[in-house]
Amino acid sequence: AATAAKFVYDFHEGNKDLKDLLGGKGANLAEMTNLGLPVPPGFTITTEACKVYLADGAEPPALRDEVSAHLDALERRMGKRLGQADDPLLVSVRSGAKFSMPGMMDTVLNIGLSDACLPGLAAQAGDERFAWDSYRRLIQMFGNTVQGIDGELFENAIEAARSAKGVATDVELAAADLEALVGTFKDIVARETGRPFPQDPREQLDLAVRAVFDSWNGERAKLYRRQERIAGDLGTAVNICSMVFGNLGPDSGTGVAFTRDPASGQQGVYGDYLQNAQGEDVVAGIRNTVPLAKLQDLDRASYDELLQIMETLETHYRDLCDIEFTIERGKLWMLQTRVGKRTAAAAFRIAVQLVDQGLITEAEALQRVSGAQLAQLMFPRFDNGHKGDLLARGIAASPGAAVGKAVFDSYTAVKWSRSGEQVILIRRETNPDDLDGMIAAEGILTSRGGKTSHAAVVARGMGKTCVCGAEELEVDTKRRQLTAPGGEIVDEGDVVSIDGSSGKVYRGRVPVVPSPVVEYFEGRMHAGAEDADELVVAVHRLMSYADRIRRLRVRANADNFDDAARARRFGAQGIGLCRTEHMFLGERRELVERLILADTEEERDAALTELLPLQQRDFVQLFEVMDGLPVTVRLLDPPLHEFLPDITELSVRVALAESRQDHNENDLRLLQAVHRLHEQNPMLGLRGVRLGLVIPGLFTMQVRAIAEAAAQRRAAKGDPRAEIMIPLVGTVQELELVRDEAEAVIAEVEAARGVALKLTLGTMIELPRAALTAGQIAESADFFSFGTNDLTQTVWGFSRDDVEASFFTAYLEKGIFGVSPFETIDKDGVGALVRDAAKAGRATRPDLKLGVCGEHGGDPESVHFFHEVGLDYVSCSPFRIPVARLEAARAAA
Ligand code: PEP
Ligand code: MG
Repeated sequence: AATAAKFVYDFHEGNKDLKDLLGGKGANLAEMTNLGLPVPPGFTITTEACKVYLADGAEPPALRDEVSAHLDALERRMGKRLGQADDPLLVSVRSGAKFSMPGMMDTVLNIGLSDACLPGLAAQAGDERFAWDSYRRLIQMFGNTVQGIDGELFENAIEAARSAKGVATDVELAAADLEALVGTFKDIVARETGRPFPQDPREQLDLAVRAVFDSWNGERAKLYRRQERIAGDLGTAVNICSMVFGNLGPDSGTGVAFTRDPASGQQGVYGDYLQNAQGEDVVAGIRNTVPLAKLQDLDRASYDELLQIMETLETHYRDLCDIEFTIERGKLWMLQTRVGKRTAAAAFRIAVQLVDQGLITEAEALQRVSGAQLAQLMFPRFDNGHKGDLLARGIAASPGAAVGKAVFDSYTAVKWSRSGEQVILIRRETNPDDLDGMIAAEGILTSRGGKTSHAAVVARGMGKTCVCGAEELEVDTKRRQLTAPGGEIVDEGDVVSIDGSSGKVYRGRVPVVPSPVVEYFEGRMHAGAEDADELVVAVHRLMSYADRIRRLRVRANADNFDDAARARRFGAQGIGLCRTEHMFLGERRELVERLILADTEEERDAALTELLPLQQRDFVQLFEVMDGLPVTVRLLDPPLHEFLPDITELSVRVALAESRQDHNENDLRLLQAVHRLHEQNPMLGLRGVRLGLVIPGLFTMQVRAIAEAAAQRRAAKGDPRAEIMIPLVGTVQELELVRDEAEAVIAEVEAARGVALKLTLGTMIELPRAALTAGQIAESADFFSFGTNDLTQTVWGFSRDDVEASFFTAYLEKGIFGVSPFETIDKDGVGALVRDAAKAGRATRPDLKLGVCGEHGGDPESVHFFHEVGLDYVSCSPFRIPVARLEAARAAA
């Protein structure tokens, strides 16, 4: 027969690993109980009971009896019963989900107290004031959190009682004052709920438990879960714990403690203590707490015991713990502990401290930090205490803090920055034309586009701060100004500050502090130095653990000297994607234009011949910076029209010229070309390998430039390791055609230069068909690099340039996905294709090298996935390399 579900666990029945069932608080109370620490006896109602309640709208039928049985055992143990007139047992009811969650009902203390047993409590405590104070706290907390009565009503009544008596604090209210206050509170409850305050202790308990269950679906709790990506169906546990009292006089009190400083990681005595008080007094900040060290003078024995317990807990949990405790007439009680939250900097420091203490291994230390924390430590940020003048909020697209004068076009950005000004480039959206301006700017702000818009992707690539999609801002590039929601105007030259970590846009200069961690990666700060920053030393050590443990290699997406050099400083093991189209911008664009406009073979060859040495020079530089490491050069990918002027602007220009009868032959030809190349769906059009197959000479020119550059590096005694990559392949036939041509060119160069170049040739897997026929494609490829940007776009049918600004917000709100699939790999869909294609490719060719070069290559969660499916490397933008190194190790540890 099926055993009935168990919905209630005594504290001594659980342990710290049962967080799913008992919640964090319950699991840790159980753990402390089993460690023999002084925890007041109690029991936990499981998250399973909560789930049933939320699904059925009623408690599971078996719950009532189970609670009765556990209550009965508790009463026998404590030697008093709930509601017992001469000596009542009181309990606290506290929520406790798997993850601690603000917005949920927290605590009701003193459950079980009623008119009938109040004199008994007073007699037992020998303190009538205490009994009335406990009763008013119960009615206040119960009324507010269980019955939903506005807390102000109670606060106002206390305030009135204080001022009637002419005193400043609650402690100065006497028993009679508190008795009167209880009367007032009861009136408030009766008035607000239409019935008197419940006198039956068990009813109090049941209502409080139900209120905890209900609070799981409170608006603030739901909002918090969405933000933190916590599943909505976990439910909360409820802890019922016998009361101990910190408000029984000066030899009682309550406090919080940390086993080390959660801000710096320093070991020591950290915490606060409040004499003669209950927990909520500390939180409410009504009276001033004293530093925990003061407890030494107040109650030496309890202090020593607490320190002992803190050491026990740290050694047991092998991590920073935070603690809530109460002292009742000189007896110490532990009310809660958990592995404590900490800042990113403290996380790194604590991890290495614990390794040094022999408490954790290097592999465990890696689990105590995260790539997201490292990323946080790498960005310059606004000084914490600043009070900026907030203009608007956009999408936090590329983190960091940037300050500069507002400029509204690239030309001005470049001009002003050349004359030493710091500028923020503000555009409605950016396009490849803005690249110079983006490079010149401190940060980029756009009013349109999402996290994978051009501005966001390029800015992240450059490690530059970017806020995009700030739709409340009206950007008028003609008038060179932007208008904020309140009508406030920012003109060109006005200073603005943008926070790429929060998406906030400020008017004026908000002070910025640089990151020592980046100074370290850049080699400008040394971990071995005498006065090395403690954080830098910790990062250095964790990175060296990471490099020892990880299996995945980490490469960079880089297409110029500076990026490649930085990537190498940051630990890149090669280049996984050099987008050659980025080498066709600026003044070279005119050459590309000539190539496109060429009417004859001669014209086309002439343009290609001019491009060849330029490309070759770029490659020589890259091979030199990455000497001895692989460099994957991708042949031209985007549709040609991207290199031509905008169709509308050009049409206007031509029309105006016509009306002035001023014919510009070149403009006319350009316009024709623009029309000829115009596509409704350029992302699905003439791009990638398709271009290579229809524009004669284009790919062979690029292959020749690569081969010549490699030969040149060889002649200079270098060790170039070029890999040629073909984009947007859908069928092996495309690859074979390009391969034949490429091999012929390479053979020619090898013969002419007298060297064997050992170039490899592979393809991107970025179309579903390529993934589905990976076994065939591998016949003709030395390597695969998964282009998860295009693969996500084509698998979902989501336009990567449009969706984030259009319906993704709605999708995220509806919970269709918790995060954009362009940011974190969609494991079930796109990821499944990657996994299967990797497997099929390796079945054909066991030594097939596998990598990924889409944006996901630098995303922590995705890096774990790529580790699991057995890729050889991930490739990401230079600034994300340390994060990828760390996460690759965390995946392997
Ligand atoms: C990709 O599609 O994932 C990729 C890396 O190529 P691109 O972003 O240049 O299209
Ligand atoms: Mg692509």
